[in-house]
Amino acid sequence: MNNITTITANAVWDKCLSFIKDNIAEDAFNTWFIPIRPGKLNNNVLTIQVPSKFFYEWLEEHYIKILKSALQKQLGPDAKLVYSILMDQKSQGREPFTVRIPSSNKEKPKPQEVDTPINLQAGKMMNPFVIPGLQKLKIDSQLNHNYTFNNFIEGESNRLARAAGRAIAKRPGGTSFNPLFIYGGVGLGKTHLVHAIGLEVKEIHPEKTVLYVSTEKFTQQFIEAVKNNNQNDFIHFYQMIDVLIMDDIQFLSGKAKTQEVFFHIFNHLHQRGNQIILTSDKSPAEIQDMEDRLISRFKWGLSADLQNPDYNTRLSILKQKLENDGIEFPDEVMDYIAQNIDTNVRELEGSLNSIIAQATLNKREITLDLTARTLSKLVQTARKEISIDYIQKTVCEYFKVKLEDIQSKTRKRDVVQARQLAMYFAKQYTKASLASIGTQIGKRDHATVLHACKTVKNLQETDKTFRGYIEDISRKIAD
Ligand code: ADP
Ligand code: MG
Repeated sequence: MNNITTITANAVWDKCLSFIKDNIAEDAFNTWFIPIRPGKLNNNVLTIQVPSKFFYEWLEEHYIKILKSALQKQLGPDAKLVYSILMDQKSQGREPFTVRIPSSNKEKPKPQEVDTPINLQAGKMMNPFVIPGLQKLKIDSQLNHNYTFNNFIEGESNRLARAAGRAIAKRPGGTSFNPLFIYGGVGLGKTHLVHAIGLEVKEIHPEKTVLYVSTEKFTQQFIEAVKNNNQNDFIHFYQMIDVLIMDDIQFLSGKAKTQEVFFHIFNHLHQRGNQIILTSDKSPAEIQDMEDRLISRFKWGLSADLQNPDYNTRLSILKQKLENDGIEFPDEVMDYIAQNIDTNVRELEGSLNSIIAQATLNKREITLDLTARTLSKLVQTARKEISIDYIQKTVCEYFKVKLEDIQSKTRKRDVVQARQLAMYFAKQYTKASLASIGTQIGKRDHATVLHACKTVKNLQETDKTFRGYIEDISRKIAD
């Protein structure tokens, strides 16, 4: 760290502290703020070092508002906070190291004001003296600031949908992509992409009303409107939106009444050249229990699918997530995750989070071994079933003992060790019961398997060489 940034980070943090001190109880200040050390300052990102994960969680839960105000006062509205948590590894004879975690720092886009000729408050009578067009109504676009185009990584798998989205954001309602129908399996980025489109519309055309709504919410609102007898208000409200984004439209399946009301809203918006963006887990042709006139309308514009990202896209997504979070993983770890988690982006993110959590909770460094073990469960379900046979073979190969020996009654030391490890891994990697593991490995009973698992765990904690065996074998099994 060079001196200039240190000085600035210190100065900024000192000012934050004096602001915070004035605003919270002294006790709390002494407990939660004095132990914090300023780290580095990178443009508008201040890293602070906290003594533990618990500390970080407490700050995020109780003091995030004041921290944020303090920081924004010093660094402007885009100020960001990153925590660096000091991991104490002295007990394991290693140097302490840090894990960096960003503040959640979530912000909502500002509400938009529109003129509306009607009174939309539920249950209220319309005031006959309200001059149509003069009432200001605030609409929260429901867009999530974190889902931008900037952090939506482009790849073969999403190129068309992404490009169409960008074109729409430039000229909502003005392209032939109306509606834009984005479909694809779970976790592939449909929701992210449509938020990105909405946010970009708001940026380029601040005067336009954008509304994101899940189909479930839309349905609930409609049921509510029917109950309160103000369906017309409901319909009018949706008909004045310039860019309507409806997520997971497949949930309209089988809901005839909601389909009908949506049909009217759709027609009105489309005729006026307002933009409609829909997502679904299936292509229009595959959606069941949906009126034909709706299905055919879904096909009017452009249908674009999102596919599973390829290896390079997965790697870029991982890199970006970590960069945003200010966390570093070794290259081999990144490569391992990208190779193994090939189902969807949500699982990719989930696995990153599990690894960070494992490392943080157990105060371990992020290594290939830790990664392999953390992901083994995920990988096994995502890629292949790991069988007990496979585990036995791997263990035998590793210790150069014969499979027949493991299966036999022999109590030779090295065979016993291999047998116990095979049982332990079978428990870890398969869903088999203790009894069934026992039957498959040497015809033992469940108590023997339980004992084996305990023995292995004990040795793992006390015996360094043994721990090495476990790490090697898990890597082989997960490979
Ligand atoms: P879906 O709505 O298709 O189920 P989401 O939009 O909720 O999927 O995406 C799941 C997660 O994956 C989100 O956190 C999202 O930010 C992330 N994600 C998906 N695609 C990408 C991408 N191309 N680049 C970066 N992150 C992505
Ligand atoms: Mg979604």
